[in-house]
Amino acid sequence: MSDIIKLLPDAVANQIAAGEVVQRPASAVKELLENAIDAGADTISLVIKDAGKALIQVIDNGFGMSETDARLSFERHATSKIKSAADLFNIETKGFRGEALASIAAIAQVELKTRVEGNDLGTQIVVEGSKVKEQEVCSTAKGTSFSIKNLFFNVPARRNFLKSNPVEIKHIIEEFQRVAMVHADISFSMYNNGNEVFNLKNGSFRQRIVGVFGDKMNQKLVPVEENTDIVSIAGFVGKPEFAKKTRGEQYFFVNDRFIKNSYLNHAVQNAFDQLLSKDQFPSYFLKLYIDPAKIDINIHPTKTEIKFEDERSIYAIIRTAVKQALGKHNIAPTLDFEQESSFNVPLMRSTDTIKVPTIKVNKDYNPFETKTVSPGSRSIIDRSQRKQSSENWESLYTDFEKDSTDILGNQSQKEEQQVISPEWNSNEAPDFDESEKQTLIQLHAKFILAQLKSGSLIIDQERAHTRILYETYIQNFAKGKGMTQQLLFPETIDFTSADAELINELQTEVKQLGFDFEKMGKSSFVVSGVPVELKEPNIKKIIEGLLEQFKMNESELKLKKHENLAISMARSASVRSGKKLSYEEMKALVDELFSCEMPYSLPNGKPTIITLNLEDLNQQFDY
Ligand code: ADP
Ligand code: MG
Repeated sequence: MSDIIKLLPDAVANQIAAGEVVQRPASAVKELLENAIDAGADTISLVIKDAGKALIQVIDNGFGMSETDARLSFERHATSKIKSAADLFNIETKGFRGEALASIAAIAQVELKTRVEGNDLGTQIVVEGSKVKEQEVCSTAKGTSFSIKNLFFNVPARRNFLKSNPVEIKHIIEEFQRVAMVHADISFSMYNNGNEVFNLKNGSFRQRIVGVFGDKMNQKLVPVEENTDIVSIAGFVGKPEFAKKTRGEQYFFVNDRFIKNSYLNHAVQNAFDQLLSKDQFPSYFLKLYIDPAKIDINIHPTKTEIKFEDERSIYAIIRTAVKQALGKHNIAPTLDFEQESSFNVPLMRSTDTIKVPTIKVNKDYNPFETKTVSPGSRSIIDRSQRKQSSENWESLYTDFEKDSTDILGNQSQKEEQQVISPEWNSNEAPDFDESEKQTLIQLHAKFILAQLKSGSLIIDQERAHTRILYETYIQNFAKGKGMTQQLLFPETIDFTSADAELINELQTEVKQLGFDFEKMGKSSFVVSGVPVELKEPNIKKIIEGLLEQFKMNESELKLKKHENLAISMARSASVRSGKKLSYEEMKALVDELFSCEMPYSLPNGKPTIITLNLEDLNQQFDY
């Protein structure tokens, strides 16, 4: 047999490498931004069109490239950053593999313009699918500009695999934020389809975090600082009272590189200890500096994971530093920090206790109160919105159970039918007189116990309301628009630049949910109407909750846009566990739940209701 092994042509090898290096537009953004930083730039701009699918351009004022370097930069394993294997243990630049540009050029049309200081003219090179199409001298500013056009133009399978623009732009913004946050000494700007999304002037780390997340962030930050032989830590944690319900603002940077590390994340979470409830996540922005010889950043091509030689000590140091920081700011005043204020051998004390701060909130405050239906009949669900339901929920339940409740037989089902009072058939909620009141009991401010003839139901109030709202929003999308309640006083709400951009991208859909708003300024919106179902007065909280859920679902689940928005909005706006409900509210909730198409579970399959069968109960009591 003749020899069959051949070396792959470069273009093919590069395309294969591109699969690893460039997963989506955001990966190219990261590589280009990092190259610009490595080039010593102090001003970097990112220009995006069509979520990076049409154009990603990064312009820097760094040291530029000579004509030969410009040409070589597209070759695989071409790098100016390491010279020998020994350098791998002392990496101080972002890049070192020399494969980013080769990979990007294999799957896009790339235009490079670059000029080094001292030269009058620069170099322009156009590469398309690894082939150099054009190379000429040009006049251009000092520094480098890379334009990546039509990413994946020659890999249709990858191009089709890209997500919708809002999702891809979200990933781009995330990369931009990660890079910009830790390089506060560099001015960064970002434009998306001609709109300025960020304009971050150089300054301190604190100023940069505030620049990225909005002015309100300033008051939320508690500084953290610690210097030991093993690691130096500088940065901030968020005050516990601002902790989020989802992991969002959690950033570790090791030697100015964003990393993810669940073990170290646990150290921070642990330092917050009893200051947070189980479902809350602290914000943190922590820069760690470690001897590069003591870490291995080479284990992942996109380099967000790294290995530490001394992970356990770093854990202990982070945990204690965060505890100290919270303590110094009187957030956990019972700790005696003096003993721990300087250390090289980190100690953990199991006796540490933290006093939980209390915040006074008037939970009953509701500016909509005067506008709701007559007193006493106020419900968490707008009754005028209610679907016409021809049967009561109890009979629906019986239908559902029909096949399995053979012990009750037809006779009992007839009895069940008789329970239907005529009022249930009308569009209005039934007006029970005391004697006819359904047995509904709220348990632990979380569940509703409802008695049926055949047993009992336990309904999870938060999930039930989420299901109801989810179906409402899905219907709104189908109809094209939800019902809007105009606000007496339109509210101006400031969002972070990233959230504002996401609202821009999703504005048609967010309006279909029932919101009425207009953009005003860079990242502010005037909200003049909200979905009628919405009873929570804090509109900003609801919209932020919606966006946060949306982002989380995008990365974790593969939902269609409408489904994602409907469930995210439902989650954000639903009545929470812990809220006491009046009888009328429970009644309306149960009633509305059973006029849903799928009352028994959430879209993710989690149950909204569990049943306690009378027969089973009897059996358990040995009747
Ligand atoms: P790496 O960053 O791993 O070295 P890249 O493929 O990203 O590999 O870049 C290859 C080389 O091109 C770099 O080592 C650098 O010398 C040069 N280069 C890339 N981008 C720039 C830039 N913006 N300014 C100056 N030189 C650059
Ligand atoms: Mg690079």
